[in-house]
Amino acid sequence: MPTAVNASASENGYYGDYGGSFIPEILVPAFEEISKHFEEIRHDETFWQQYCALLTDYSGRPTPLTYAGRLTEHYGRAKIYIKREDLNHTGAHKLNNALGQALLAKRMGKTRIIAETGAGQHGVATATVAAKLGLSATIYMGREDMERQYSNVFWMRRLGAEVVAVDYGSQTLKDAINETLRDWVSSFETTHYVLGTASGAHPFPAMVAFFQSIIGIEAKEQIMRAVGRLPNKVYACVGGGSNALGVFQAFYPHDEVQLVGVEAGGQGKESGNHATRIAYGEGKMGVAQGYKTLFLQDNDGQMKDTYSIAAGLDYVGVSPILADLSERGRVRFAAATDLEVIDALELVMKMEGLIPALESTHAFAGAFQDIAESSKSDIYIINMSGRGDKDIFNIAEGLQDEEWRSFIHRKNKQFENQAR
Ligand SMILES: *Cc1c(COP(=O)(O)O)cnc(C)c1O
Repeated sequence: MPTAVNASASENGYYGDYGGSFIPEILVPAFEEISKHFEEIRHDETFWQQYCALLTDYSGRPTPLTYAGRLTEHYGRAKIYIKREDLNHTGAHKLNNALGQALLAKRMGKTRIIAETGAGQHGVATATVAAKLGLSATIYMGREDMERQYSNVFWMRRLGAEVVAVDYGSQTLKDAINETLRDWVSSFETTHYVLGTASGAHPFPAMVAFFQSIIGIEAKEQIMRAVGRLPNKVYACVGGGSNALGVFQAFYPHDEVQLVGVEAGGQGKESGNHATRIAYGEGKMGVAQGYKTLFLQDNDGQMKDTYSIAAGLDYVGVSPILADLSERGRVRFAAATDLEVIDALELVMKMEGLIPALESTHAFAGAFQDIAESSKSDIYIINMSGRGDKDIFNIAEGLQDEEWRSFIHRKNKQFENQAR
């Protein structure tokens, strides 16, 4: 069994200038309880073994590291290996964190879990582990997001979770976070808040990174077994930062391994329609949602609207751990635009028979930006955070597939006729 790696924060949860804990007084006991239990489990080999065993039996871990032979041949440069988080149950890395936190909730004697969700993937993972572990679940989701990602709403409800529409503000992720916190203020005695990415108030960034660290622990062992040495570069897409930290952590001690986080360049820097906080240098230090990090904000400190073709990367802040690693030069940041992502997606599908999620395709696009400068003896690892076939509506839209559009029209007519 692999052993855990731990991201280290200072005593009060800071990573350099970033992180910390800015929470309402009433939630202080809830955070203290989580911190206490997290401190216990992060050094508890038995808990980690239980977590790994459940991931093995239920989620299919370890996920493979696949050699991308045809893509490698296509570019004729670095050898490309792909870490297959798409093969997790529910189709992405999200389950690693949801399962870990649900186990922690049970250890704390909680009977209910709540979560925010933007695109719905974290909501589905949370609803799934709640069913598996016999916990009740409530998922908060902006009404606008529910409309955009209805198939995930369908699954959450079928899995037995209550899905609550958030009707105010922009009716998206940040409003869902506020509403989840509101629930938690009056429910924390029985309820754990399963935060979905490596952001938020301390100790959530460290805790989510800890549960995702299994990705890099496995990837490092697998690349050593496959080629007998460490990779030159490791690529991951960055929304909140959980899959990136997951794959990066095991490589921290090896300075020769370059770690590259790829953000959503959307329609490009000039357009203003993107979710690139670090690579475009536009994120400004601020405090929101319980922590301090680089947020995309206007001159008055108002959070900007973000945009990405990949709903899971459409987030205004970034993990404080990554903000710090960037500042210290340990992680390099790049951005991939929607157009680059669509090209990369078509290439990966046709060359490797893999269907990455639009989020994960940003990591591929980032690697393809660099590969011309690499040599044949180089090794790249790309973290494929999730699979795209479950996102058929979004991908068909992204690829502007006319046949799909006309299929939806026919389906719609069929429904109308049945209703008559
Ligand atoms: C949610 C999601 C992401 C973005 O979240 P991170 O916390 O940055 O990892 C990336 N890829 C997939 C497939 C996702 O579902």
